[in-house]
Amino acid sequence: MIHEDLTMFCYADLSGAVRGKGLPARLVEKRLKSGVGWTPTNIMYTALGTIAPSPFLAFGDVMLKADPKTRVEVDFDDGTPAERFYLSDVCNTDGTRWECCPRSALKDAIEALRAETGLTLKATFEHEFIYEGANAGAADMYALEAIRKHGAFGEVFLAALSHAGIEVDSYLSEFAAGQFEVTLPPSDPLAACDRAIIVKEMARATAWRLGSSVSFAPRLSPNGLGNGVHVHFSLWDENDKPVSFDADGPHGVSKPAQGFLAGIVRHMPALLAFSAPSPVSYLRLVPHSWTGVWSNIGLRDREAGIRICPTFGSADKVAKQFNFEYRAADATANPYLMLAMILHAGRMGMADGLAMPEPTVNVDPEDMSEDERAKNGIVRLPTSVGAALAALKADTKLAGCLPQALLDIFVINRTAEEEMTAEWSAEEICQRYARVY
Ligand code: GLU
Ligand code: MG
Repeated sequence: MIHEDLTMFCYADLSGAVRGKGLPARLVEKRLKSGVGWTPTNIMYTALGTIAPSPFLAFGDVMLKADPKTRVEVDFDDGTPAERFYLSDVCNTDGTRWECCPRSALKDAIEALRAETGLTLKATFEHEFIYEGANAGAADMYALEAIRKHGAFGEVFLAALSHAGIEVDSYLSEFAAGQFEVTLPPSDPLAACDRAIIVKEMARATAWRLGSSVSFAPRLSPNGLGNGVHVHFSLWDENDKPVSFDADGPHGVSKPAQGFLAGIVRHMPALLAFSAPSPVSYLRLVPHSWTGVWSNIGLRDREAGIRICPTFGSADKVAKQFNFEYRAADATANPYLMLAMILHAGRMGMADGLAMPEPTVNVDPEDMSEDERAKNGIVRLPTSVGAALAALKADTKLAGCLPQALLDIFVINRTAEEEMTAEWSAEEICQRYARVY
């Protein structure tokens, strides 16, 4: 049949959905320069198919300015159209930055850290998801049999990532039936977020071609197991030297990293508004499900808000590998906004000279006394979107890191989703979000 190559210019909106406009591929060169038109109110879509009250109404125009570095062209060689898309900044029609653009907000945060400290972050997002076509048995956790029974999915998915220019670190069958996880090596923050989006899209693209589907939703059923997004990060200087590790620091944490972690702990309740931004997020963030529900720094603890991760091999490899993991995050987050706010929180912790709270070692904060927790800066993290947004409102320092217009629409958008789901059972929330993410 006749066909014309189609390319999409996309962006991730406030609920992390990837939306955009298509154009004939032969026009891409031209449109990379000029952009494609976009409607401001489009950023007010919720994940549930509604439009949150939009301050933009029917007025105005912006444009999607695709970043050539994000080009994805993956032909699955199965007769279906290739996946062709770019990720974009949202700009004003004169090409200047639109103040509500999430990807530009991350660029601000990267620049603020560089300007103040000369440092940058390397980050990577670890994604868990359920593959509908897994044929999994209840006892298939990490099993070779699980990889066998999920058929072609894993190999086609890895090939798709490779064709999209994404290096994979590991791919595994996880704990829940039909759950898989993919990890990537760290990269600069912008690339880490672009890759987080491309990974999810390639998983969907693969599943669709196999007549199935995947879901990255944080919980697929109220009593099931969660799909987390674990954000790994470490600090690096401008000569590409790792600076998070110091053998003489507490648990190996260097001075700058101590301040950075202290800032994240200080601002973590408000950070949840960005890292766990949906009603379904809080069905995952429950105690003893290997997610972060406390604002603690835990040494090699998978229930800590921030985990100090292990390193492997000889001492000379430690500094390069040493990294931290923010665990109270999921795939309903916009990755750019989430990482931007983590960067701001860490940067402010360094600037304010905050002392790192004592990391917990082999202890559950639940078992500590109120006093002990207070001494270590450990609080129970918010348990709903409303509580996280209230924490954000109260944390004027963190909230002030975003352009006011972006902060305002974010709060309106998240509130709309919470209000919409207020009367829904946990079961219904899971079902509706499972279909979207
Ligand atoms: N599935 C867990 C989560 O919801 C994480 C399990 C793990 O540590 O791999 O975050
Ligand atoms: Mg995992």
